Order: sequence, then C-alpha cells, then structure tokens
Amino acid sequence: MSTSGGGELVFPRELRARLEAWARESYPLEACGLLLGRREGERVEVVDARRYPNAVRERAHERFELAPPDLMAADREARELGLSLVGTWHSHPDRPATPSALDRAAAWPDGVQAIVSITASGVSEVEAFLGERARPRERSSTPQRAARNAGSDVGGTVRR
Ligand SMILES: [Zn+2]
Repeated sequence: MSTSGGGELVFPRELRARLEAWARESYPLEACGLLLGRREGERVEVVDARRYPNAVRERAHERFELAPPDLMAADREARELGLSLVGTWHSHPDRPATPSALDRAAAWPDGVQAIVSITASGVSEVEAFLGERARPRERSSTPQRAARNAGSDVGGTVRR
C-alpha cells in the first residue's frame, strides 16, 4: 500500500509525539482518537489531535472503535476552532504501523489514518496515510473553468 494517494499530507512532528505518548499509556490496549485540521483541495494539514476511549469491548488489544458521542463532540470542537475532522488515529500494540484489512475498510475515503506502533519497551513509530480513494473534484471542474475563460476571450476579440 502506498503512503499517499497523490495528495499532500502535513503532519507536525510534535503531534506524532503526542500520539506516541497516548499509545504508550494505553498499552497493551489500542489507543484511538481523531485528527483535526484543514483541507484545501488535495492538501490536508493535521493541526490537532484528540484522544477518546476505545469503545470496543472485546479484543481491545487489536481493535478500536470511536463512540458516536465522541465523534460528535470532536466535530463540534473542530468547528469551534475553525477546523474540521480530517481523520482518525489509533495504536498497534506489538504490531507494525501498517494498516490492517479492517483499517483499510474503515478508513475515511479522503481522510487521514495515523497508526502508532508501540511495544512493551516503549519503542514507537508513527505512520500516517492519506486516503487512496481521494479523487479531488477540483480536477474535473478545471476544464470547465478553462472553457469558460476561452469563451470570454473570444468575446473579447469580437469587440473592437
Ligand atoms: Zn489498526
């Protein structure tokens, strides 16, 4: 799986460090939460992160789920900050930071998915992926805009 779907992902180092700290606290269970940020066309900038309890009851060492009330609260908070929800993050205790089949299926189509690999000795790494299914609408509207410009050019030349 490629790490980017053609879009640009900005993920500050200090934010990665915060996710690593949260992953360490939740070990050996999966930690999870949401990413707040800005989206401009294909560019996604992660600005902030929130941690929420893992809502999964069983197999919480290898599964995570965000509770709907937490999602709604995060969405509200993001709006108040002038941001939006741009993705999710979770940890992989004793597993590499590679998305599982379940992770790929649950990934937001054009969202960010950050995964923190964490071990008992505290060694961690963070990988952030930008949804591969992202197909920016801007691209398809560009030819239309160009055509409209061409039309106005023609009008300009007719006028003497
Ligand atoms: Zn996972």
